[in-house]
Amino acid sequence: MSADEPVVSMDDATVQFESEQLFGLAKSQVVRAVDGVSLDIRENEVVALVGESGCGKTTLGKAAIGLHRPESGTVSYRGTDIWEAKDASGLFGGSVDGYPFHEIRRSLQMIHQDAESSLDANSTIQSILEEPLIRWEPQLSRPDRRDRVGAFLDYVGLSPPDEYIDRFPHQLSGGEQQRVALIRALLMNPDMILADESISALDVSLRIDMMDLMLRLQDEINTSYLFITHDISNARYITKKSDGRIGIMYLGNLVEIGPVEEVITNPQHPYTKALLWATPDIASSGGRIGAEGIEAAPLRAIDVPDAANPPSGCKFHDRCPEAREVCEEVQPDSYRVDGDHETACFRMLDDHEYWSSPELEGEMGDQLATPD
Ligand code: SF4
Repeated sequence: MSADEPVVSMDDATVQFESEQLFGLAKSQVVRAVDGVSLDIRENEVVALVGESGCGKTTLGKAAIGLHRPESGTVSYRGTDIWEAKDASGLFGGSVDGYPFHEIRRSLQMIHQDAESSLDANSTIQSILEEPLIRWEPQLSRPDRRDRVGAFLDYVGLSPPDEYIDRFPHQLSGGEQQRVALIRALLMNPDMILADESISALDVSLRIDMMDLMLRLQDEINTSYLFITHDISNARYITKKSDGRIGIMYLGNLVEIGPVEEVITNPQHPYTKALLWATPDIASSGGRIGAEGIEAAPLRAIDVPDAANPPSGCKFHDRCPEAREVCEEVQPDSYRVDGDHETACFRMLDDHEYWSSPELEGEMGDQLATPD
């Protein structure tokens, strides 16, 4: 592995599912939840993925930590293909060149939106938190494990630890449960944590505390975060404090990614502009859309298309105010804006046929729901 090898690298990864049948009546359809995404997550980096409900951000996150197998493309951990490592591990625990699967599993952890359901309801906090220690640090005695768990509880503000350690998950508040879930992930000594809407169930006042805690712990244990959220304000907060990147997803595609303030103040993709337009606190604090004072949504249509039957060409073309006929036919690649900033829109290329293609007919929308 080279020194600057990403922790996780997705290369043209596609993940698809069969949509559920309704009472067995409808014909099942294939939904391409992640469609040809390439993304590197670097050492100690925070990458926040934002998009409307159903855009594929959770599926992408789970693919990044090896919970969804891509139909095509690859997902690697420090240069080792995760699924080759898993296949090689088989019944007899074999391995490929590179990292064995059990080490990859330990290194890529997840905290969920619903912390309570991810914690064993019948176990005490001590039992829940010592489980990873028994597995990964078997040399520790029981008193050592209790001390270690107590120190973590104290560190995350569940203090004094003796008041929490023998409780059951339902005896904690939502914010306290989320802290326990975070400790459990950290006790695995992970290289990356997928935080999937992990703060969205918390009161607004607790969200900042939780994000601050995640970043404080990042300093201590050197982990990367893939932070999934529908809330671009939260994405901005955590990536701005950590000098991270924001990625914008639309119908399975990563349509824009870059350093947080680049994306917020200099958005290039029309969908990013629409999301920012719908986020008043960002629009009024330097977001370019708000500064221009546009009153109507910068969208041609409000409704998100059916993911099982997405539009041809650029999947955003039927909502895009800038769409031209070529956008109906050809899917854009990702083009460099500047440095780490990339976007999937023909408008980035001065000499693209887009500029001579006729504009698409259609009405502009007048509202956009905040993504949920
Ligand atoms: S490629 Fe065309 S439809 Fe897609 S975002 Fe750019 S201008 Fe809009």
